Amino acid sequence: MNTPSSQREPIPRVGIETIEPYVPGKSAATGGAKTYKLSSNETPHGPSPKAIAAFQSGAGSLEMYPDGASTKLRQAIANRFGLDANRIVCGTGSDELLHLLATAYIGPGDEGIFTEHGFLVYKIAILAAGGNIVVTPETNYTTDVDAILNRVTARTRLVFIANPNNPTGTYIPFDEVKRLHAGLPPQCILVLDGAYAEYVRRNDYSAGMDLVSNNANVVMTRTFSKIHGLASLRIGWCYAPERVCDALNRIRGPFNVSGPGIDAGIAAMNDIAHVEMSAAHNEKWLEILTREISDFGLKVTPSAANFVLIHFPDSPGKTAAEADAFLSSHGVVLRSVASYGIPRGLRMTIGTEEANRLTVDLLRQFVSR
Ligand SMILES: *Cc1c(COP(=O)(O)O)cnc(C)c1O
Repeated sequence: MNTPSSQREPIPRVGIETIEPYVPGKSAATGGAKTYKLSSNETPHGPSPKAIAAFQSGAGSLEMYPDGASTKLRQAIANRFGLDANRIVCGTGSDELLHLLATAYIGPGDEGIFTEHGFLVYKIAILAAGGNIVVTPETNYTTDVDAILNRVTARTRLVFIANPNNPTGTYIPFDEVKRLHAGLPPQCILVLDGAYAEYVRRNDYSAGMDLVSNNANVVMTRTFSKIHGLASLRIGWCYAPERVCDALNRIRGPFNVSGPGIDAGIAAMNDIAHVEMSAAHNEKWLEILTREISDFGLKVTPSAANFVLIHFPDSPGKTAAEADAFLSSHGVVLRSVASYGIPRGLRMTIGTEEANRLTVDLLRQFVSR
């Protein structure tokens, strides 16, 4: 219990001030005639022109509250993927949904699991809910199902995995996801964060919708921030069991998606050609960048997403921090991943052909200077 007589100011709940705030990728370069921001996994193609038009047409009714249930957006998503719209909840980005899941299912003393180089929002959400974090080791920067299952206890309420993971880019096949789910107790929810699902071109991959359909304890989260190019609008969604949706709907903001966001999201969801164009560009450059950067001696973790994790040596003059500074002085901004426990790595988002070519040229210069 707080003791008001000894407090001179309001004090946050226990644990809140131990949370390290999320640090976004940098926006500004230190030099270069033009800035190429490859630090936040944003699409180089922008959103669908139809989504921009839909957003703009919403400008005429900004005084009106939006539909708090995001009904038409949920319907558009349901139609696109053959899902039940009643089992979809939209959020202010998928970040909000990750937080709501933690708020709804984690209490003091409960545990939430994520992996060694997992997305940092999981940690923040679990701690903010008053829970304990359990971090499991990865194998070759990849989710290790056995390591997770080994750490499950009677207090485990949530297991978060991003598949593919950010910032590593690695994924686990659907067989492994199913094996993970099969090993979890029924009171524990498996959260499959599919922020990069649209980019994956692998026969053994699934974002896990079937697993959600057939189980009471699996949730898939998705976002409009990455391939749909609507990061600034803050729209995400999840597909979840009915009882989970019911819980999230009780505690979410009553108008958590804006009207123009709903309209733009619907148009983006329906512009399949735009998504396919973006995915094709990504597939092409993922291969080229991985090969060319590896060719001059830097290690690149095989990625299934829209970014690559590049590893640098520890020797003076060649480190990740020095590469970051060098690239930035020429206008290219990558993402330091030291906060993800990878001090020798930099994450590069796949950009336009111009940005990709420039980055490869600069990295080649850096390595041989
Ligand atoms: C970018 C990203 C998200 C998306 O967050 P939004 O709040 O929807 O913008 C979610 N999970 C992971 C792993 C991400 O990298």
